[in-house]
Amino acid sequence: MTEVRYYCPRCEAIASLEREGYLADKCVTPYPLDGWEYAATYENFEGTDGVEIVCGADETDGEGCGEVYYLSFVKFEDGEEVEPRHLADVLPSRPTVAGARRDADEDDDDGPRFDFEP
Ligand SMILES: [Zn+2]
Repeated sequence: MTEVRYYCPRCEAIASLEREGYLADKCVTPYPLDGWEYAATYENFEGTDGVEIVCGADETDGEGCGEVYYLSFVKFEDGEEVEPRHLADVLPSRPTVAGARRDADEDDDDGPRFDFEP
């Protein structure tokens, strides 16, 4: 077992967790990730997707803020790393090219053609 330290994302109090070294941390967030399952720090969280940490509980060094935050492990599905939808939602949206692509298909035969190859 290894002792790993985490900072509360709200007040930066340090919590120390005893855990197996092989679990890969993804992130620490003030909110649970969509699709992740969390266990309490006193439960066996090795088989879950993350840990719910209460800031100010036994594992916290100092007072803490009393709020809950979430340690998420890296999650794999079919060999691919799963990205939480929650994080995707807060990322800036990419410009959509769907409309432009549809127009290009309609104009495929008669429309002007652009050759972007040098
Ligand atoms: Zn805190």
